[in-house]
Amino acid sequence: MTTTHKPATRLLRAGRPHRGWINTPVTRASTYVFDSVAEWRDTRERREKERLASYGARGTDSTHALEDALLALEGGHRAQLYPTGQAAIAVVLLAALRAGDHVLITDAVYEPVRRFCANHLSRLGIAYEFYPPDGSDLSARIRPETRLIYAESPGSLTYEMIDLPAVADLAHRHGALLAVDNTWGCGVLCQPLALGADISILAATKYLGGHADVMMGAVVCNARAWPAVQQASIDFGQTVGADDAWLVLRGMRSLTVRMAAHGAAALKVARWLHTQPVVARVWSPALPNHPSHDRWRRDCRGTNGLLTVEFRADITQAAVEAMIDSLALFGLGASWGGFESLVVPVNMRAARSLSDWTGRGPMLRLHVGLEDPEDLIEDLRLAMQCLSPSHP
Ligand SMILES: *Cc1c(COP(=O)(O)O)cnc(C)c1O
Repeated sequence: MTTTHKPATRLLRAGRPHRGWINTPVTRASTYVFDSVAEWRDTRERREKERLASYGARGTDSTHALEDALLALEGGHRAQLYPTGQAAIAVVLLAALRAGDHVLITDAVYEPVRRFCANHLSRLGIAYEFYPPDGSDLSARIRPETRLIYAESPGSLTYEMIDLPAVADLAHRHGALLAVDNTWGCGVLCQPLALGADISILAATKYLGGHADVMMGAVVCNARAWPAVQQASIDFGQTVGADDAWLVLRGMRSLTVRMAAHGAAALKVARWLHTQPVVARVWSPALPNHPSHDRWRRDCRGTNGLLTVEFRADITQAAVEAMIDSLALFGLGASWGGFESLVVPVNMRAARSLSDWTGRGPMLRLHVGLEDPEDLIEDLRLAMQCLSPSHP
C-alpha cells in the first residue's frame, strides 16, 4: 500500500497482510500460546506500545486487518474497535475526561449520548455543556478546565457543520482535544483527522458494515490522543469478535461505490421532495439552502443517503405517522447505512436543548438506500397523498 494511491484504491489494498488469498482468514481466538517464557515476557512488555498478538481481547489478525483498513480510510496513528458505536463514544468520553474537567458537546449530538452524559458524566464530577451545532460561540464557551470539544459534523438530524480546522485550533490552543463523531462522513465523505481533529469516531454499524447485519464502533486517533484511548479501551475490556470484524471489512470493500450511489439517489429524492407543496424544507448539507452548505462544499467529498423532511406547520403529526405507516419500500426502524431505505419520525423538541422547535411542522428522517430512486419517489408520492388538503 502506498499513500500516492487515491483513497478508493488504498481502501481496497488495506488489511490484506496475507500472501496468496485476497482476504485475511477469520481468526476466532482467545488464547495465544508462546514458545518460551522469554517470548511471553517480551510480548507483554512491548504490547503497550506495539500492536502484537498476545491475547484475544488485545486483537487478532481479523481485528488488526480491519484496523488497517480504518487507518487507510481516515488517516491517523491507531484504530480501536468496539461492540457498538455507542460504546466507542462512551470510552472516548471516559478516556479524555476526569473529575473536575469540562466538556463541550454539540447540541446536534446523536441522542443517546445525552443520556450517557446525564447518567454518567455528572456522577463522575465531569461538567458538560451543549453548544450550538454550527460551533459559532465555542471560543466564548471554552474554559480553563475544558479538556474536550465533542463534535458531530454534520450533526444528527439537521446536519449543521462546525468549522473543523478552526475548532481544532481553538481546542489545541486551550490544551483540549477535539473528538468528532464521523458516522455521517464515514471516512469517504469526510476525514476529520486531516482537518485537525484528534479523534474520529465511527458507528461502523452504519455505512462501513453497510448491510444491516452487524453492530460495531471504531475510533481512529492521532498519536496525541491514542495513549489515553488505548488505556481506557483495555481497562474497560473493549473488543470485537473476529466474525464481526470480517463482516465490517467485507462491507468496507464496496464503501466508496455505495456512498456514490446513496448520495446520488438521495439528491434525486430531495429534489423531488422540494417540489411538493406539503414539504416546508428538506434538510441535507448538500442542498444549497442548508446553513452549512459552504462548509460542506469545503470539507466533504459528497453526501450520503440521509435526508430530514420538515412538513408544513399545518400538517398534523398524526397525518405524517399515517403516511409513514403506508410506505412500502421505506422500513420503519433505527440505524441507517445499510442497503435498504428507512424512515423514522423525528422529534426535534427532544433532540435539542438550545434551539426552540415549537410551532414547526412534523419531521421525519429518510435513509435513501440502494433501490432505484424512481421506485422510492413513487412510494413517497403514494404515501404523501394522504397529506394534501384534498385528502383530509
Ligand atoms: C447510530 C449512531 C451511533 C451509534 O451507533 P451504534 O452502533 O448503533 O451504537 C453513534 N453516532 C451516530 C452519529 C449514529 O448515527
